[in-house]
Amino acid sequence: MKRLVLFDIDGTLLMTDGAPRRAFHRAMLEVYRTTGPIATHPFDGKTDPQIARELLTHAGLPAAAVDRGLSALWHAYLRELSAEFAQPGSRTTVLPGIVALLGELESRGDEVLLGLLTGNIQEGAWLKLASAGIRNTFRIGAYGSDCERRDDLPPVAVERARAAVGVEFMRTDIVIIGDTPSDVTCGRALGVRAIGVATGRYGRGELSDAGAAAVFDDLSQTDSVLEAILG
Ligand SMILES: [Mg+2]
Repeated sequence: MKRLVLFDIDGTLLMTDGAPRRAFHRAMLEVYRTTGPIATHPFDGKTDPQIARELLTHAGLPAAAVDRGLSALWHAYLRELSAEFAQPGSRTTVLPGIVALLGELESRGDEVLLGLLTGNIQEGAWLKLASAGIRNTFRIGAYGSDCERRDDLPPVAVERARAAVGVEFMRTDIVIIGDTPSDVTCGRALGVRAIGVATGRYGRGELSDAGAAAVFDDLSQTDSVLEAILG
């Protein structure tokens, strides 16, 4: 096993049609009676608990009140997200090149361990991947439900990988692929290499400036992307 390849979800693997934000909105109202500035607040690159805390702090709630409601919030959010994806018109788009790239990486199962590194809470991540038809591709993951700070997620992924396959992945063996500067910088403390993809809200320049080792407009050039991941 030579590489641990960790994918972000939103804006990297897939795009939803706003279902998560609507589900978040209804869950926040149900549990906290307020949403804060949810319509305009950027979610990109953040963990779910971080988003909830930012919105509720903005709405004036003290930290203790935020903490008290979080488990009820996730319960409501997952119920609402499932309901959103069950709507007949629900649309989750797998981004260009993803299916082919994941197929190539899966076919290298002896040298590549595929994982997730995402701000989504674990079951939210799985619902999103299932809605895109790529739920069973990833063997391990580090999630927003593990840590509120994205920078704390890479060590969690490394430990889960060690537990899953008995390999201690070192910094140069690990690649993080994501669409935001936060994806690019979160592995910095571990010395992890990051690949940026401009299919989210950020351009190639911003991802390069954040320190990405390679940057792509999208991941459709499978050979070039594989070379950046494995090379
Ligand atoms: Mg993202």
